[in-house]
Amino acid sequence: MKFFLLLFGLICAQISSVYANVVVTSKPLYFIIAPLIKEIDTPKILVSHGHCGHHHHLRPSEIKLIKNATLVFWSGPVHEPFMAKIIRVNNNNIKVFEENKGFAWLSIGIILKKLPMLTARLKKIYPQKVHAQIDANALKFQQKLINLSKKISLDLSTLKTKAFLITYPFLSYFAKEYGINIVGYMMDSPDAAVTPRRLKSIYKLLEEKEITGVIKDHHVPLNVIHTVVGNQCSRILTVDPEAINVPVSIDGYHILIERITQSIVKWAQ
Ligand SMILES: [Zn+2]
Repeated sequence: MKFFLLLFGLICAQISSVYANVVVTSKPLYFIIAPLIKEIDTPKILVSHGHCGHHHHLRPSEIKLIKNATLVFWSGPVHEPFMAKIIRVNNNNIKVFEENKGFAWLSIGIILKKLPMLTARLKKIYPQKVHAQIDANALKFQQKLINLSKKISLDLSTLKTKAFLITYPFLSYFAKEYGINIVGYMMDSPDAAVTPRRLKSIYKLLEEKEITGVIKDHHVPLNVIHTVVGNQCSRILTVDPEAINVPVSIDGYHILIERITQSIVKWAQ
């Protein structure tokens, strides 16, 4: 009996020493953090499947999850305004992934630059014995990202001569990295109105440039786009930059980026 109690105690000590309670606010961040702690731990996702952070309000259970976490990665105030309140009260364990325009997770270049910071943060909360595993995971993930970037760069190179309108700046980082020509936005954010000034500039663009189509996400309804562009632009594509419909998995990042790339390439031909 004593032996079993000792064994149980040892197992518990082992688990608690490795288990660090990492929370990520969204699925895209899960796709970046989970491969780094593969075979060590699994991050918890704050905003559940089918939702995004734009209009989210923290529930008591989610506040508890953040307070009990050893480390929280969140996407920044543009994409997750609901985090502002909790950060004012308790920000010891909270690390921002991005502080600028939002949607930085769609840039492989940015993730590659952030990998050393992310692995360093993770090593701080996990015991020394798993650090080599984190390094090996990071190296593997880095190689996968480089290969993915090369592949989609080639796929998207066919779109260099096209011009696109976007509902609001959710594809900025992605477009900049792969030379996708975004000529204008309908609004500044999913909640902003289409101002008369913006409307005028869109009409001008539609008259002067050959626009391939409008790329939207789940936030802006089709009828709003039809009202803005009228008959002058009938091609509209919906993509999923927030991974709302991408299943939670260790390979989620690959799926997210490939889905966006292939849907744009196929649609814009
Ligand atoms: Zn959203």
